[in-house]
Amino acid sequence: MEQFAYIIENWYNTHKRDLPWRRVSDPYLIWISEIILQQTRVIQGYDYFMRFTKSFPTVEALACASEDEVMKVWQGLGYYSRARNLHEAARTVWANGGKFPDTYEGVRALKGVGDYTAAAICSIAYNLPYAVVDGNVYRVLSRWKGLEIPVDTTEGKKIFAKLANDLLDRENPSVYNQALMDFGALQCTPQKPECTACPLATTCEAYKNAKTDLLPIKSHKVKVSVRFFNYIYVRAGEYTYIYQRPAGDIWHNLYEFPMIETEQELNEDELLVSSRLNEWVAGKTASVSLRCLDRNVKHVLSHRVLYATFYELILPEDTSAFAGFERVNVDDLKKYPVSRLIDRFLKKFVFS
Ligand code: SF4
Repeated sequence: MEQFAYIIENWYNTHKRDLPWRRVSDPYLIWISEIILQQTRVIQGYDYFMRFTKSFPTVEALACASEDEVMKVWQGLGYYSRARNLHEAARTVWANGGKFPDTYEGVRALKGVGDYTAAAICSIAYNLPYAVVDGNVYRVLSRWKGLEIPVDTTEGKKIFAKLANDLLDRENPSVYNQALMDFGALQCTPQKPECTACPLATTCEAYKNAKTDLLPIKSHKVKVSVRFFNYIYVRAGEYTYIYQRPAGDIWHNLYEFPMIETEQELNEDELLVSSRLNEWVAGKTASVSLRCLDRNVKHVLSHRVLYATFYELILPEDTSAFAGFERVNVDDLKKYPVSRLIDRFLKKFVFS
């Protein structure tokens, strides 16, 4: 075993976290944990893992669930396409006899599984010799080797993949990969890595050359777009109106209130004269009562910043307005999968 692997695994023996997905070798459970942890910190991911695997403990349970059921359990985690991919992949496995694939190629062919996830599942569940390369691994390796090549370029990815593969402990890839990921998450952290107490300090180029805060290097920053959402929470007696978001944008298939997106912030008067709202209430905006409940709620997604304003609009219970929307009892809103933004609104203004 390379000295690097020996040090990392030794460190792991002392520092490893006791997590539920570490105690299993079931590839299904490891797959779920890897997808959840791609987008969330371990503390938050823990609760979602427990909830998700309680609702869907097996491939069969996940495959046989409806999309709304899966999205409801995933609600709040974000990156909803990952839940849809999990669901579709479970259905594929179930349709092919129900046995989770046990080769790298078989796992990699599942919907939503990329190189990283396939390597993680195969090494952790089957001890197959595939090196994982995630953000933690990029950080540790770029610092330890002092590599200044951007990690988000084709060339950078190739170099890091080869280095990770060269360093892999082929006898024990399961422990090695988990050790390296934990080392990046706990010791060689993005900010303030614990260099003075690090077992790699004497051989670490970034530490020697005071470059820990410069590595890893990324070639470009992702451009962030700003969007303005104006939600209309209709109260028509005990009913309200919702719709399911279409494909091709954020929150595909989640439910929300009728929404008008604008290029800048609107006030009530501007909203009342908007053609969309007039269309929904059949040109009767002069007789409706519109009240702002929450203004400019900032909601940050990976590449977007949303500013949402919520209006309450009171209509008679037998209204024929909002004809193109789904009319639901307000109490039933809890049953629908919604974004975290809508969930917060519901908790604050509807079910408080
Ligand atoms: S010495 Fe610091 S930068 Fe280098 S591997 Fe250890 S924690 Fe990371």
